[in-house]
Amino acid sequence: MPEYAQYNVSEWAEFSKRHFDDSKVGSHTAVIPTESVPNNLTGLSEDEIKLYGLVARSLIKIIYPKAEFDDTTAMIAVDKHTFKATGKCITNQGWYAVDGKPEAKELPPLSEGQELQGEYKITEGETEPPKRYTEAELLAAMELAGQKLEDEEARTLMKLQKRGLGTDATRGPILKSLFDKEYLAKKGKSIYPTELGMYLIKCLPVKELKSAAYTGELEKQLNNIALGKCSYDKYIAFIKQKTAEWFKVIAESEDSKFTSSTEQQLICPFCGKPLIKLDWGYSCTGYKDGCKFHVNKKISGKSITENQVIMLCKSGRTAIIKGFTAKSGSTFDAYLAVDKEKQEVSFQFPERRKK
Ligand SMILES: [Zn+2]
Repeated sequence: MPEYAQYNVSEWAEFSKRHFDDSKVGSHTAVIPTESVPNNLTGLSEDEIKLYGLVARSLIKIIYPKAEFDDTTAMIAVDKHTFKATGKCITNQGWYAVDGKPEAKELPPLSEGQELQGEYKITEGETEPPKRYTEAELLAAMELAGQKLEDEEARTLMKLQKRGLGTDATRGPILKSLFDKEYLAKKGKSIYPTELGMYLIKCLPVKELKSAAYTGELEKQLNNIALGKCSYDKYIAFIKQKTAEWFKVIAESEDSKFTSSTEQQLICPFCGKPLIKLDWGYSCTGYKDGCKFHVNKKISGKSITENQVIMLCKSGRTAIIKGFTAKSGSTFDAYLAVDKEKQEVSFQFPERRKK
């Protein structure tokens, strides 16, 4: 294809298993290059052409010669202290020719014993906690899950046998599922566990289900089935037995109700039963016993937040809420309060308006 003719084919490196590895074509495969060359890329959308280019350049990159560079390390003595500076100098751009070279820190030419002029000062700072994972970092951490284990033996085993969490093809969907279920959330590029995620880890009474090592062990067995070293039926029977055991433990555990901390605060101020969230608002689960307490999600044109409902249930009154709309169209501010006689929610107005 003319787009890729500029790359010098005669410089292609020798093929090895790093380029094409038949043994890795298993249940989930990556993009496999074929020998058919498209005449042109018309008929593809702009995004598809970009994707094609990305795949094509990646392929060309891996069969291009190695990039070569000189590493420079300078040890610089200042009083009694030694400082180290490192830099790179690219001597043969190799595969960098395809996509451009990465930004390398270059050091000026130096000779041994050379005196350097400079200003030095001491700055004070505090150590920072480890940075939050980005999505790419978390994916890499899943792949190397074994190396983060506390138990050294399990760690070595995971590392040797490549017992990461998931496979190249499934790690992305595993993360997506954790985001969809709101166990994880992103702030900018950083990933945080949600309250729900932390609560699940805290309450789930089955240690194996929270263990990276155990998940790695299951992955290994799946791999053994793929390699014909382990029987499918035996594995499924094992999983069935384990699942039954785990369900029993979960059902008998104290925390099995999985009520979140906000749900624990949504308690009916009249009968003390928990409220349930419905499409239109909150209703007391004691309605079968005659309790009529409920809170609408929207009151006089104003959406009521869950925190306001919690406050209403706990202390009998919300903070002042601004911007209700009366039937006449005028707006007003009011508290929402529990009317003990009518057993319902009513407006309470600030003192001065009472007059
Ligand atoms: Zn009630």
